[in-house]
Amino acid sequence: MPNRKIINQLIQLQELIVARMQTRAAQSKIPLDALDRSIALLGSDLAQPVKAHVNRLLQKHPEAVVPIIDEHCTGCGIQLTRSLINDVLRADDLHRCSHCARYLYYPSNVVARERASRVYGEKQKMGIARFSAPSLMVAPLSGGTPEEVLGEMCMRMQQESFIASADQLLDLALQREAIVSTAVHGSLAFPHVRGVEGGGLTLALGVHRKGIHFGGPGRSLTRIFFFMVIPTATSAFYLKLLAGLSQTFREAEARQALLAAAGDPDELWKKLVRQTRNTVK
Ligand SMILES: [Zn+2]
Repeated sequence: MPNRKIINQLIQLQELIVARMQTRAAQSKIPLDALDRSIALLGSDLAQPVKAHVNRLLQKHPEAVVPIIDEHCTGCGIQLTRSLINDVLRADDLHRCSHCARYLYYPSNVVARERASRVYGEKQKMGIARFSAPSLMVAPLSGGTPEEVLGEMCMRMQQESFIASADQLLDLALQREAIVSTAVHGSLAFPHVRGVEGGGLTLALGVHRKGIHFGGPGRSLTRIFFFMVIPTATSAFYLKLLAGLSQTFREAEARQALLAAAGDPDELWKKLVRQTRNTVK
């Protein structure tokens, strides 16, 4: 299935390009050379028209390659024709959405959402409460490896009925970390899973007292984990949320406020709300 291989390559390329945008949003001092090299390498054996189209799409949206879910393009929401869906399933060539021109693929792994409608229900929430909740504060994290720490946060999302399967979410989060680590300077990491089915953008916050090796720059330890589950339709919100979090928590004082609440989830929630009051709207 040659198309599947190209699609996987496009998904990886897309993640790297978004990671580059994230790093810039954080106005981090990390040199972008390593990311740029990976992007060039991954892009080098794509056909020129494909590469050009992906770059064009990415200038407009953070998603150039999107899954088909329930017969709909998750990029623009349009219902796709049976024949186009069959073409994508046959996977003999790359196919684009007839409406938004994003590349389409058929996901082998779909994270089901359950509770979103209750959580994001009638009452309009403000600020960070639109994306998270006190029950999604995982503090303190106790694991010693990326798998254990991400596993704790996936399990919490399952217990709180934000997702159906913690195991599946964990697999996807680890696959994403394998492309390029989401750890950045300042003991922060922004692990995430994109392209899930339905629901809203969901953020869990985990704080680790001692910190773990999560692939941070210069083997630095990571202590604060903003773990995000991102339905494709909310990708634009995701970049805004990420920019807001980055802006707030590149200040050492703001990070210290979260670390001081590592043992108390209620206190951690209050700190998160207070610190992001002006940056996450
Ligand atoms: Zn579309």
